[in-house]
Amino acid sequence: MSDDVMPLEESYCGFIAIVGRPNVGKSTLLNYLLEQKISITSRKPQTTRHRIMGIKTMDRHQFVYVDTPGMHKHQKKAINRAMNSAATGALDGVDVVLFVVERLVFTEEDEMVLLALEKVKAPVLLLINKIDLLEPKSRERLLPHIQKLSQKRHFDEVIPLSVLGSHNLDTVEECVKKYLPQGPFLFPEDQVTDKSSRFLAAEIIREKITRQLGDELPYEATVEIEKYTQQGDVLHIHGLVLVDKNSQKQIIIGKNGDRLKLIGSSARIDMEKAFDTKVMLNLWVKVKGGWADDERALHSLGYFQD
Ligand code: GDP
Ligand code: MG
Repeated sequence: MSDDVMPLEESYCGFIAIVGRPNVGKSTLLNYLLEQKISITSRKPQTTRHRIMGIKTMDRHQFVYVDTPGMHKHQKKAINRAMNSAATGALDGVDVVLFVVERLVFTEEDEMVLLALEKVKAPVLLLINKIDLLEPKSRERLLPHIQKLSQKRHFDEVIPLSVLGSHNLDTVEECVKKYLPQGPFLFPEDQVTDKSSRFLAAEIIREKITRQLGDELPYEATVEIEKYTQQGDVLHIHGLVLVDKNSQKQIIIGKNGDRLKLIGSSARIDMEKAFDTKVMLNLWVKVKGGWADDERALHSLGYFQD
């Protein structure tokens, strides 16, 4: 009789936060971990406690990756305060924290992130990215560097890696796996993200802007989708890009509108892949006067989490 009783397969599911100062490679890492091009890298609010960036389900393991907005050392502007508080809050209740740094560098901003990790009880894995950029002769400095960092706090694992060089990425996933708590899957197995397509569209546009402009914009632009309608075979999307200043608007638009066209066409290609349909994309850039210093405007844009 007991032969009829199948043992329940154990499953593991957990929230994994990827933290680190800007430019260390968090988004790039997430893209690889999710094995897909589009990652959700947003500062928009979430209905859940975490900003879910992507979900990966493999056999009996479900990885729910959550992101934090960049942590900035200057606290002057309201937007920075908002970003910092949101960043810290996002670490409550996560199961694993991936703290990403790069090469042999440890800056004041890295130090800030470390500070935000002080109260974290979850295992923290230190990922030292971009080791492909290390000269052979400076590689021998890696071990002393790791030892120095390990004196700053306890890290459950330290993994030197190169996301672009595809070095040690499997190790990262294997290590994360070890720390996922046992429990049922929280999301359907085929779910890549818990976001709506509309949201995904905004994220694709925002990602293209960031790609195109890099450091030229002090903050990543906000994107709102004003229209999202399927008409016959074609999905019509209107995206509104909100920036701080007129000078930023000019930068995004570019000479003769070239840059905006590039942003639009690459975004459209990704959207067509993501939504599996033809897409007609229109983009506008608008200046939202003084919003970086206006907490009320920030609230309405959803920068604050309650
Ligand atoms: P984030 O701000 O932490 O999300 O950083 P991004 O993922 O946007 O990456 C910042 C820059 O670092 C991009 O230009 C990436 O291509 C680059 N990058 C990421 N990982 C690596 C790596 O392993 N090696 C090198 N050389 N560059 C990397
Ligand atoms: Mg990023």
